[in-house]
Amino acid sequence: MTELQKKKILIANDDGVFSHGLRALANALADLGEVFIVAPEFEQSGVGHGITVRRPLRFKPTRLEGLDPRIKAFRVDGTPTDCVVMGVHRLGKPDLVVSGINYGPNLGYDLTHSGTFACAIEGTHIGIPSIAFSQSFSDNMDYTHSAAYARVLAAKVLELGLPHKTVLNVNFPSGQPNGVRTTVQGTHHYEDNVAERLDPEGKTYYWVGGVPTGDSEPDSDYTALDQGFISVTPLRLDFTHREFMATVQAFLPEL
Ligand code: MN
Repeated sequence: MTELQKKKILIANDDGVFSHGLRALANALADLGEVFIVAPEFEQSGVGHGITVRRPLRFKPTRLEGLDPRIKAFRVDGTPTDCVVMGVHRLGKPDLVVSGINYGPNLGYDLTHSGTFACAIEGTHIGIPSIAFSQSFSDNMDYTHSAAYARVLAAKVLELGLPHKTVLNVNFPSGQPNGVRTTVQGTHHYEDNVAERLDPEGKTYYWVGGVPTGDSEPDSDYTALDQGFISVTPLRLDFTHREFMATVQAFLPEL
């Protein structure tokens, strides 16, 4: 067994433990080390970095059809972040946390909504190199190219690590990529769009959706994906705007 094969890898997601993208990612990483899946029992897209603090959680072994037999899978009846927390608690601190491959892209301002990205944030906060993987929507979500690239990138991060408080957000185009680009977080978001309907009892209900805005920045995650490239964005988890601190200090009202 080589040094690389001894590494422990935790895989989570927000689409739920039965999602195809999760299985494709896990299978692709199976020979990089000891691979564990800990994923939500139900889809949790859009829950961001939420954790469950007011009810108990269960951790259940789960059989996934088509999963490499070397991989153990578990599900948690909580959020994506709960899965990373529980995975580390039950299985020990891994050498790498990966999340995805999400059904749909995670770009720009929308990143803070993403449960996929939140798993990677949680791993980073715990001090583990972490990568979030997502893929553009298509009719037949084919993860062949994305899973293969995820494998080589994961191997590279296992070898080199990532800087403190730094996380990678990776988005794949559908189909064969034209190449790979390092990008900045763009301005893409979803213009809020609340549908208002009546339920069968005549009472009003609301459905929060959104219209994708795109962006026009040449070096953004959105543009790379739009042009058929894999987008890799390094992000910092320290939100502090250090250059602005003196200005804030100067305008703070006296107590
Ligand atoms: Mn999702």
